[in-house]
Amino acid sequence: MTIHTIGTYPVAIGKNPERSRDHNRRVVLDVVRRHGSLGRAHIAKLTHLTSQAVANIVDELVGEGLLMEMGRLRSGRGQPPIQFAVNPEGAATIGVEIAADHMVTVALDLSGRLRAKRITSLRKTAPDYILSAFTSELSAVEKSVGARLLGTGVVMPGPFEIDGMTSVGPTTLPGWAGIDAAQALSEACGHTVVVENDATAAAVGERLFGAGLTISNFCMIYFGVGVGLGIIQDGVPYRGAFGNAGEIGHVTVVPKGRACPSCGQLGCLEGYASVYVLKEKLACAGITDSEFGDLERLHRAEDPVAEEWIDEAATYLGPMVAMLENILDPQTVILGGALPDAIIDDIIIRMGNLPTSVASRRQRDLPRVLRGKTGQLTAALGAASLPFFDIVTPKLETSLAAAAGVPA
Ligand SMILES: [Zn+2]
Repeated sequence: MTIHTIGTYPVAIGKNPERSRDHNRRVVLDVVRRHGSLGRAHIAKLTHLTSQAVANIVDELVGEGLLMEMGRLRSGRGQPPIQFAVNPEGAATIGVEIAADHMVTVALDLSGRLRAKRITSLRKTAPDYILSAFTSELSAVEKSVGARLLGTGVVMPGPFEIDGMTSVGPTTLPGWAGIDAAQALSEACGHTVVVENDATAAAVGERLFGAGLTISNFCMIYFGVGVGLGIIQDGVPYRGAFGNAGEIGHVTVVPKGRACPSCGQLGCLEGYASVYVLKEKLACAGITDSEFGDLERLHRAEDPVAEEWIDEAATYLGPMVAMLENILDPQTVILGGALPDAIIDDIIIRMGNLPTSVASRRQRDLPRVLRGKTGQLTAALGAASLPFFDIVTPKLETSLAAAAGVPA
């Protein structure tokens, strides 16, 4: 699952005062968000900023409606400090998941709460058709939320612009080859749209609001129609030189194995562990109702086709987890996306004893594999977190966040 790059994160702040100021605002917003509520002195202590700098930034953020006063915290003697928290009503972001057959549009407030949700089915994937559906869904959600809009994020499947892997299979979006999706979507709705591949967006969503909230280095294996990988490294997504990092769906897991439904090569992971293959197997057995709720029901009834797919997915995903650990050394690997929680839990259980890897430490704070927490709407919520992520996340999170006492 891949797409265009949405820009890079600077590795150094330099001496540019404007950039430092912007960075400090992010640090303050992020530290308050992660702690729930904090007083000015506490913020200064955690961020290593001067009291004056914190006072100025807090005033500015309150003025903009991004932070709000929470009253005073009773503690010890003397005047108790005023507490500040992120203002949920301050602004909203919109996230749109464009899949081959449906579009999900959600709005999140600043606290990450879901404020609106619309799901519409798509009859075609042609750009003209999708762009018009996109603008009408967007304006419907915008109207229902009412709050100031901070930005719109879109996720769509790729990969794009790769010879032989471009819009050829059922897990990509036919008709979009060679189109600059970010530009087309921005022009259609009249404001800047951030576009990302679904797996990376899902990982950002888990990092901000889900299982990755306190984990700064993790991999997320994402079930869309295909299988993707989002990588969070030192708190920010790792995209690779061309924005295509994480295309694990097309890693060979069985040499000379099954033909991949997407790229046509033999033995890709996507040919075994994808939701697309599960639905194909069900269809072959005469089961054509295989939407999210149907999968939940089939799993509960221990449908043999679903059971067989879960076994097979676990067989190929277990070694993949160990490979990711050996290559990237994450704190944990999160499994999530468009599958019912109970099925993901079962895949994790059936992976059994994972192959030994660099992650086979005796002392671990976290299990090697966790289930994601953002559920069925993972991709759309991830999309909505993209503009949010740009606002609250310090772009140089590595050492500064640690220095700021942000739970890593
Ligand atoms: Zn493939």
